[in-house]
Amino acid sequence: MSARILVVDDVPTNAKLLEARLTAEYFEVNIAFSGEEALKSVAGLEPDIILLDVMMPGMDGFEVCRRLKADSKTHHIPVIMVTALDQADDRVQGLEAGADDFLTKPVNDIALLARVKSLVRLKTVTDELRMRTAGGDEMTLPENAPWDNNISALPGNVLLVEDDPVAAQQIISALSPPHHVLVESHPVEAVMRAVENEIDLVIVSLSLDGYDGLRMCSQLRSLNHTRQMPIITIVEEGDYVRLARGLDLGVNDYIMRPLDENEMFARARTQLRRRRNAEKLRQELLKNIEHAVTDVLTGLHNRRYMETHMNALFESAVNNGRELSVLILDIDFFKSVNDTYGHDVGDKVLQVFARRASADIRGKDLLCRYGGEEFVVIMPDTDKATALQIAERMRARIADKPFNVGKDIPQLSITMSVGVGTIESPVDRPEDVLKRADKALYQAKRGGRNRVISDAA
Ligand code: GH3
Ligand code: MG
Ligand code: MG
Repeated sequence: MSARILVVDDVPTNAKLLEARLTAEYFEVNIAFSGEEALKSVAGLEPDIILLDVMMPGMDGFEVCRRLKADSKTHHIPVIMVTALDQADDRVQGLEAGADDFLTKPVNDIALLARVKSLVRLKTVTDELRMRTAGGDEMTLPENAPWDNNISALPGNVLLVEDDPVAAQQIISALSPPHHVLVESHPVEAVMRAVENEIDLVIVSLSLDGYDGLRMCSQLRSLNHTRQMPIITIVEEGDYVRLARGLDLGVNDYIMRPLDENEMFARARTQLRRRRNAEKLRQELLKNIEHAVTDVLTGLHNRRYMETHMNALFESAVNNGRELSVLILDIDFFKSVNDTYGHDVGDKVLQVFARRASADIRGKDLLCRYGGEEFVVIMPDTDKATALQIAERMRARIADKPFNVGKDIPQLSITMSVGVGTIESPVDRPEDVLKRADKALYQAKRGGRNRVISDAA
């Protein structure tokens, strides 16, 4: 795991010390000696993580953090605040400024690497999503959709695996409200709950009586439903060995006893926030992918989708010596529907048309809106005679029953013309067959419309 880290500290020896520890782990490190310098260099450096000292002359760490989090170009970069050990208030202030995590001085090596690695891991996932969501011509995102710091205000469902009632009570009081804490003392039951319930975060005690909490962490990481679920472990004071093993297993964060309630709350908040942002990005991405291949008006596949899949369907037909036919459907005199009743009514006709056309095709046929009032059906394993039959059935379903598109609009008689094209030889390309169907369609129009014609080839 490699990443670029910006260390901000006004004391050169502190900065150099952190640099030495991080470069030993193969991180790439840059140093800024003041808040002002940090803000200036961030745009050029594009660090993956910022380690930010709180106490600095001039602009202090809180202010730097606030500015980073207020700028849409930098607000997704995780910030770890480095505070003095005795300044518990600093932690709270740092979190209010939007910091993602904090470390106390003197910085413990394992803690440093654990925090940095956990945030790098999270950032890698969200960066990838940000990139994929923003990439591609039709896959653009609305401005600043990818990140939302306020998302953490929402209550989360936390599953706490802890068999000591006193410790459990302490965590409940740290987290709720706003979060709901479900306590489970037995790890086997806990895994079931994590799988069956909508859990946003799991907190696992590593001091369970007679059971190794790490085993449960490993199980959660191996199950599909819980693979992405954030996990925080509660570690006994000084137990760096098990802490490190947990992190190796993919645990996202840890907290050491004796438990600090503010810290507990802050760590839970960071995990919930990142989990929600990642989830939001994923949803956005899915929606964009769907948009890119779907015609919004009719819900059918669009031309782009068809063109991608047509090649594959053709190849498989030609390679296996199977039949394949293509229909082009074109609504007759559609322009006059728009001219007479308006574009909105035209749109409704297209929607009803799409529904009726879908009714006559099989699951393996591919129906798409080719553009305007033209639709294409690709029918694998279908010879010309069968294609003609199906097309005729579709034609009749459109023509025989008037379209009902609104209570103030008379029932409309809609008809369509259909051209049929079929693979005729192993060297046929998709465009050859489409051309045949198009020629046939032209003949259907010329011949008086409301009819099906196949290309004689
Ligand atoms: P033909 O029988 O020769 O096919 O005549 P036509 O009027 O159906 O064909 P033409 O190509 O002249 O007109 C198609 C019309 O379809 C023109 C265009 O404004 C309209 N159209 C294309 N897309 C949409 C749409 O999404 N909504 C609506 N309401 N109309 C559309
Ligand atoms: Mg038409
Ligand atoms: Mg047309």
